[in-house]
Amino acid sequence: MRHDRCKSCYHEHVWYSIANNVFLVLYKGVMGVMTGCQALIADAFHSSADLIASIITLFSLKISEKPPDADHHYGHGKIQFLSSSIVGLILLVGGIFILINALSSVVSGTYAEPDPIALLGAAVSVLMNEFLFRYQSCVGRENNSPAIMANAWDNRSDAFSSTAVLIGIGLATFGLPIADPLAAIGVSMVVAKIGIDLILEAIDGLMDASLGMDELKVIHAVVNKVPGIRGVSYMRGRTMGDRLHVEVDVMVPDTLKVYEGDLIVELLRQRIMTEVEHMGELEIFLSPVEITEGAG
Ligand SMILES: [Zn+2]
Ligand SMILES: [Zn+2]
Repeated sequence: MRHDRCKSCYHEHVWYSIANNVFLVLYKGVMGVMTGCQALIADAFHSSADLIASIITLFSLKISEKPPDADHHYGHGKIQFLSSSIVGLILLVGGIFILINALSSVVSGTYAEPDPIALLGAAVSVLMNEFLFRYQSCVGRENNSPAIMANAWDNRSDAFSSTAVLIGIGLATFGLPIADPLAAIGVSMVVAKIGIDLILEAIDGLMDASLGMDELKVIHAVVNKVPGIRGVSYMRGRTMGDRLHVEVDVMVPDTLKVYEGDLIVELLRQRIMTEVEHMGELEIFLSPVEITEGAG
């Protein structure tokens, strides 16, 4: 970390991102309506989608951090998938709504060239999103956080989206008015795509998607390094929110005393918990196997 300041950026960047989007929603929305520019209105909707998404993420992270309680023995991690599926649905419906509007104005020919001031709206949006991308990728890099980096890249894609809008408005004001609804169609499809991705991801999470092969291999390697264990008889895992829930059944010699088995379980638990990232629940079972003379 280069500066002491980077630590406080870690806590502040979300609020800058929210403030940026609040401003852009209002600014582009008002400008879009005043100048009669469809593409700018679509882009304002894109910003409001990002705004809702980041607010919901903020709240659901707070809730999913809550420890397990009497009503939720496995913690509250899955609330994230519920919230992201709601956001996904809002984006999908909103995207389709703008798409239909823009399509019908293309088909019926009811588009007019927007006021050139709309160009200013899109240009400000490009600059602010690009600035936020640079700021957040600095915060993400210095704090080594993939989640913040992902946020940063989302802002860069917003900058691209606004660039497309800028080009569309530019063409529209210089004698090609159909470019305005066409740019709106492009933006609405991007918004709908974000919505679909969020919904699919949420479904995967709610269905307890299995762990990837890589994660299982890491756990397998840890198990095999523990003295006294003769192999894995079965292992399975699933995702509970952003935590892993793993069951592993290991083979131990049937001549072990109960307390020896207990020591092995404790050692294995410690190693998996320290070496595997994002571990949540871990259940370890022992299967006694007959060890033939001379082996091991
Ligand atoms: Zn609860
Ligand atoms: Zn976006």
